[in-house]
Amino acid sequence: MSNRDIHVLVIGGSWAGITAVNELIKLSYGSSIRLHVTLVEQRTHYFHKTGVIRGLVDLKYAEKMFISYQRLFTDGNPYHRFVCAKLTHIYEDCVVVDGSGRLFYDYLIIATGSAYTSLPVTQSIDEKECRARYQKMRHAIESARVILLVGGGAVGVGMCCEIAEQYPKKCIILAHARDRLLNEDLSDNLSITTENHLRKLGVELILGETILSTSFQDDDDDDYSTLIHDDWVGKPQTVIARSGRRVPCDLVIWTTGSRPYTDFMNSLVPTNDKHPLVDVDSGLINVSPTLQLSDIRYPNIFAVGDVNSLPISEKYATSAIHQAKHTVKNIRQLIEESRDHRIKRPPTTSSETAPKAHLAPYTSPRNTQVVVALGKGTEVSSSIFSKFSSWASGGGRGRMYMLDKAEKMLNF
Ligand SMILES: Cc1cc2nc3c(=O)[nH]c(=O)nc-3n(C[C@H](O)[C@H](O)[C@H](O)COP(=O)(O)OP(=O)(O)OC[C@H]3O[C@@H](n4cnc5c(N)ncnc54)[C@H](O)[C@@H]3O)c2cc1C
Repeated sequence: MSNRDIHVLVIGGSWAGITAVNELIKLSYGSSIRLHVTLVEQRTHYFHKTGVIRGLVDLKYAEKMFISYQRLFTDGNPYHRFVCAKLTHIYEDCVVVDGSGRLFYDYLIIATGSAYTSLPVTQSIDEKECRARYQKMRHAIESARVILLVGGGAVGVGMCCEIAEQYPKKCIILAHARDRLLNEDLSDNLSITTENHLRKLGVELILGETILSTSFQDDDDDDYSTLIHDDWVGKPQTVIARSGRRVPCDLVIWTTGSRPYTDFMNSLVPTNDKHPLVDVDSGLINVSPTLQLSDIRYPNIFAVGDVNSLPISEKYATSAIHQAKHTVKNIRQLIEESRDHRIKRPPTTSSETAPKAHLAPYTSPRNTQVVVALGKGTEVSSSIFSKFSSWASGGGRGRMYMLDKAEKMLNF
C-alpha cells in the first residue's frame, strides 16, 4: 500500500456501518497507509431497531436496546473518530453534516438504512426522547383492549405474536392486503405455517383486505375525522377497508414497511439524468454488483445495507454485515491499486472515461435463510432458494433479535 493519508467516511452507525468501521480498523493495522476512519451517526446512541418488537412488551429487554458508541474506538488511535451529526448533503469529495460542517473523504460508505415511520421510537435521535416514545408505545398496547395491526409482513407478524403471547386476553386482529401472510417472495408453505401459528395464539386474521384509513370518534359530537397516524393513538376508533368493511378497535399499529434515508443524495449530480442515483419509486440508492454507486462517475462511493437497491431478500441485518465486509475488501483493493480519488478529474470526465476498477461483485451468503420470528420461543424459517422448506421450531436465538451480536459489535 502507498504511504499516504486515506480518509474513509462511514455514514450510519448500525449493522452495516459499524461492521464497516470494525473492518476498517482492522485494515488500518499492519499497513503503511494512515487510514482516517470517521463514523457519522445522527443518534447519540446505538438503538437496537432489530429488537423493537420484543422491547415493546419486555421492559428489561428494552433497557438493553440503547448502547453507547463509546467503546467502538477503544484503540486510542487519533485517526479514528465518532461524529454525532446528521448527513445533509453529499458532494464529489466531501459531505456536509448538520447543514454546515464539511468532512472530506477519499472513500465514502453510505449505510443510512431505512425509517419505519409507523414505529415512532425508531425516529428519535435523542436517547431521552427515544425512551419516552417507547414508553408511550408500550402504554398504548397495555391500555388497549382491541388492537389491529395493519400489514402482515415479517415485522407485523412478529409484533402480533409478541403482543398476543404477552397479553392473551386482548383481542388482536391482523389485516394484510395479500391473501397469504408475509411477502410474496416467500413460499406459501411458510405463510400457511405462520397463519396456523397466529390462529393458535387466538389472533383474528383479515386477509386480502387493504386498510385505507382510521376514523376517530370525536368525544363531543358524533363526527368522525379521518387520519392515518404515525404516532400511536390509543382511543376508540374505526378502521375502514377498501371493501367498505369497518373494524372497531382501540389501537391501530401500521407495520406497512419502511422508507430508505436518502434525502442527502439530492446534492450529488448524476452523469445522466436518465439513470438517477436514487430509484424514483423505492427511494433506494442504485448500486452496481460491487456495491459502488451504479453511476461509475463515483467509484469511491459505496452504499450498503437496507439503503441500497439490492432485492428485498437482502434487507436483513445479516446481509448488511456481509455487504459491509465485502465493501471494505473492495476499498482495500482500490487503495492497493493506488486510485487516488482526491485528484480532480477534468469536467469533461464522463462515465465512459472515469477510472474503472475490477472489483469483486457481492454475492449473498450461500445458505441464506429467511427467519421470521413468531414470538418468544418460535420462528419459521425458509431458504430463499427453496420454495418448499418451512418449519416452525423453538427460537434458536432465544428471541434475542440479535441483541447479543449488537453488543459484541460495539465492544460490550
Ligand atoms: C422489527 C424488526 C425486526 C427485524 N428482525 C431481524 C432479524 O431477526 N434478523 C435480521 O437479520 N434482520 C432483522 N431486521 C432487519 C434489520 O434490522 C435491518 O436489515 C438492519 O437494521 C439494516 O441495517 P443497516 O445498517 O443497513 O441500517 P439501519 O439499521 O436502518 O441503520 C441506519 C443507521 O443510519 C443512521 N442514519 C440515517 N440517516 C442518517 C443521516 N442522514 N446522518 C447520519 N446518520 C443517519 C440511523 O440513525 C441508523 O443508526 C428486522 C427489522 C425490524 C424493523
